[in-house]
Amino acid sequence: MAQDAVPSNKANSYHANGAALGAASQGRHDLSSDTGDGSRQAFIAPRLLKTPNLEHNPDSYEDLKDLEYPSAMYSAMERHLPPEFLSASRNNKLAVLQQVLARYRPNGERARIQKHREYRERIRGCYKPFHTELYTLDPERFFVQSFRDAIKDGTLEGFKRIMKEPSPGLYTFDMLQPSICAKLLEEVEYFERWAVECSIKIMRPNTMNKYGAVLDDIGMEGMLDQLMSKFLSPMASKLFNEVGGASLDSHHGFVVEYSMDRDLELGFHVDDSEVTLNVCLGKEFTGGDLFFRGVRCDKHVNGEVHPEEIFEYPHVPGRAILHAGRHRHGAKAITSGQRTNLILWCRSSVFRELKKYQSEFSGWCGECHARKKDRRRHLSADPKRSVAN
Ligand SMILES: [Zn+2]
Repeated sequence: MAQDAVPSNKANSYHANGAALGAASQGRHDLSSDTGDGSRQAFIAPRLLKTPNLEHNPDSYEDLKDLEYPSAMYSAMERHLPPEFLSASRNNKLAVLQQVLARYRPNGERARIQKHREYRERIRGCYKPFHTELYTLDPERFFVQSFRDAIKDGTLEGFKRIMKEPSPGLYTFDMLQPSICAKLLEEVEYFERWAVECSIKIMRPNTMNKYGAVLDDIGMEGMLDQLMSKFLSPMASKLFNEVGGASLDSHHGFVVEYSMDRDLELGFHVDDSEVTLNVCLGKEFTGGDLFFRGVRCDKHVNGEVHPEEIFEYPHVPGRAILHAGRHRHGAKAITSGQRTNLILWCRSSVFRELKKYQSEFSGWCGECHARKKDRRRHLSADPKRSVAN
């Protein structure tokens, strides 16, 4: 997405996808790819098979209102998917099919960007915020004392004092004041009611979440930019230096909503970000834990899970989790109540550019790492080979 020259948010960033990963097996196949503004494709959507699999009984997409093409087309296309995709959830299959279709419509892409621009302008022109104080970042009102102190301190030791690292590369810490969480929830609800009254169809944060809203679209872009540059970047540059955390320069900020009558869960995926901040805002809920399964490079994104990478995280309102965008994860189904989270995808155009020229080995990828270690072990066990190499 935002890796062309402009170091700010793209007006078209709403469509930024995470990349959904394989279905039941959690990570056998890389499903989707974000074309966004067309500047980059993070993942290659699969090639469809020439011959349809007539034995496969495709899902129906008839009940979905937001489809770009007739629902029957998605069902028909499903039969052309490579076999490993056929057992994926309908949502995941849809994400793949949308990516496949996106390859064939540069004009559609431009139209979408234009549509998004108009959507933002319409909101900017008419929407009157409910809590205006949310639109300017005031550290005293926004953050708990411990978080402010750590940022002021600015050292790795200072950050580690307020954080837990329950699994490698996952950092959790108390961050938002309860009153700010409550106000953010109210603002989003207010915006949703306003959109209904004005007959504006809310553009959703990504292809995987059907409920929620992009905060950048409703005017919080400046506030979130401050949040990233002044508060998260200092942490990310120390904790996520290997994956571009020291050069974050754009973001995509949104809320996602889960409840029994909305989205229940979120499939296994990676984010279109270098570093992701995920803060639970409330309200009351049971279930809905995040599950993590290790950091992977593009090449190994669908690789096996190593047992030590398995980690589950229960949300606590006000508490944040910070992780690499390439840390594979998903959200389990909530079992009651309503859960809303603030998500900030932080991106680095520099890192994305450099990644294009990177050789095979990614120091931060669990699989690359394991393979390198394996190779070393083989070489040292076989001194002849070691010399030959
Ligand atoms: Zn790798």
